[in-house]
Amino acid sequence: MKYALVTGASKGIGRATSLKLAEMGYFILINYNSSREEAEKTLELVKEIGSDGELLKFDVSDATETKSALDTWTAQHKNEYIEVLVNNAGIRKDNLMIWMPEEDWTSVLNISLNGFFHVTQYMLKNMLVKRFGRIINIVSLSGIKGMKGQANYSAAKGGLIAATKALAAEVGPRNVTVNAVAPGFIQTEMVKDLPEEELKKLIPVGRFGTAEEVASLVGFLASKEASYITGEVISINGGIYT
Ligand code: NAP
Repeated sequence: MKYALVTGASKGIGRATSLKLAEMGYFILINYNSSREEAEKTLELVKEIGSDGELLKFDVSDATETKSALDTWTAQHKNEYIEVLVNNAGIRKDNLMIWMPEEDWTSVLNISLNGFFHVTQYMLKNMLVKRFGRIINIVSLSGIKGMKGQANYSAAKGGLIAATKALAAEVGPRNVTVNAVAPGFIQTEMVKDLPEEELKKLIPVGRFGTAEEVASLVGFLASKEASYITGEVISINGGIYT
């Protein structure tokens, strides 16, 4: 059995990525934090594809909870390991920096950046021993450019981009690749408060992207065909700001 873990797989890009990896024959570990019913729906869809999966509830920002959930899984699967990890869990809490409550700064960093650290450090040992692994981090255009009203989110994603490159250099010799996917505007719950009609005018292809389009790129990076790509940040944004 080949295992893939997708964090924040209860909806949006995480759900679409779970389905893409299921299509590629992976057993999917569907991580979620608060949306159990949505995570169950992801599992149902994974099964419809003809693959299988299980739910793994933990808050990626909580080191103890993350370790405990992964320890439990590992103890039940002694001779197996997770070869694909997609660090997708993330939130937005936008505000101009001058008005930003400290907790909105820390929670965004805790989930996107510290969450990556907690989950990835745990997974690395087995990937290095087995000499194969694929780590894909979902970052953002905001982490490349820096967006007004998103100092917290831009910092988290920018930090994750730098960590992607640093880790890629560390683990390349063991055939573990680490890449980042940087979406622009993708139609999910996360962006439902944004003025889509206005923003579409900034996008050369004239529309928001779909979660499935992002998932296809993640699937490619997880595949054998992408074995010589590492330490990269690949944008998927309909041509915006290029
Ligand atoms: P979404 O539909 O709001 O989904 C976010 C996912 O993250 C949910 O499954 C949620 O799970 C999970 N999550 C949140 N906090 C978590 C925590 N503490 N522990 C574990 N899981 C947690 O958003 P999305 O658009 O698919 O976003 C997915 C990723 O893409 C994020 O990293 C986001 O920053 C990035 N991104 C999105 C866009 C866009 O336009 N949509 C653009 C660029 C980058 P629960 O509900 O179960 O807690």
